[in-house]
Amino acid sequence: MKVGFIGLGAMGSAMAGNLLAAGYALTVWNRSEATTRPLAAQGARVARSADRAAQGEVLCSMLADDRAVREVFLEGGVLDAMVKGSVHVNHATISVALAKELAEAHAAHGVDYIAAPVFGRPDIAAAAKLNILVAGSAAAVGRVRPLLEAMGSRLWPLAEAPERANVAKIAGNFMLATAIESMAEATALTRAHGVSAADFLDVMTNTLFAAPAYQGYGELIAGQRFKPAGFTLPLGLKDVELALTAGSAAHVPLPFAGVLRDSLLEALAAGDAELDWSSLALVAARRAHLDERG
Ligand code: NAP
Repeated sequence: MKVGFIGLGAMGSAMAGNLLAAGYALTVWNRSEATTRPLAAQGARVARSADRAAQGEVLCSMLADDRAVREVFLEGGVLDAMVKGSVHVNHATISVALAKELAEAHAAHGVDYIAAPVFGRPDIAAAAKLNILVAGSAAAVGRVRPLLEAMGSRLWPLAEAPERANVAKIAGNFMLATAIESMAEATALTRAHGVSAADFLDVMTNTLFAAPAYQGYGELIAGQRFKPAGFTLPLGLKDVELALTAGSAAHVPLPFAGVLRDSLLEALAAGDAELDWSSLALVAARRAHLDERG
């Protein structure tokens, strides 16, 4: 089976690497060329343009956001270039509205469209242990199942309408952001009263909050390890804004999402765009003037 992969950022590079490791004949494309080189060394064919990566039976994409997906697939002609009867598997975290638009546009071109957003950071992607939410026609999902299994530890089918996988992913990331923000604020509180973030989070993440989200992000906050970022602040802001927009469209108030949006904006205003979104802990510490207290 000939497979294409578009979008070789932190996530896409790792996922494409696992398709190569599983033996797929892979053609890759990325806007900036540098990230294609390690994959070429693993045996990938590098396409000179995105539409040339779209000639196989399956095309996976892992682009940053709505804008990138729109530019590449709808305005850049990649959907037009896809072979009728082929399948596009879109792994990016995009809006519910764009997911619906893409499903219609693909159907009009005779191309199957599957939304397959993922949970798991780049290290989890590299270990092929992603949790992959999947929504699309059962027949198309059946065709790409072996590829998805090469990139993830578990698939979570969410029926046929692609946007269902996207709304579940957006809601899940909203929960992750609230977990980070609550640890950020709680550790500012303990630090102000003499208990270090590490000591406090050690208790909480081994008792009441002994769950992967708290343990993973708790470790980053306790160790102040915000760089290199696994998931940057701008991507976090994008996802919280996706939740707010999806909420508005269905008249669902999300008061916590408003708080998160402002904390993320504050982090970006401080010039921290390169940092991991767990650096919301720095925002909470600044608000409490912890560094000036000595
Ligand atoms: P990333 O490292 O920033 O990579 C983004 C990719 O999109 C790069 O290949 C970039 O190309 C490409 N891109 C951006 N704008 C483009 C445009 N206008 N035209 C063409 N290509 C464009 O991001 P990532 O961490 O891999 O995340 C990718 C997606 O996965 C996002 O939707 C994110 O929300 C989601 N996600 C991320 C994580 C995580 O922990 N990182 C976990 C789950 C899901 P260049 O290399 O040329 O910039």
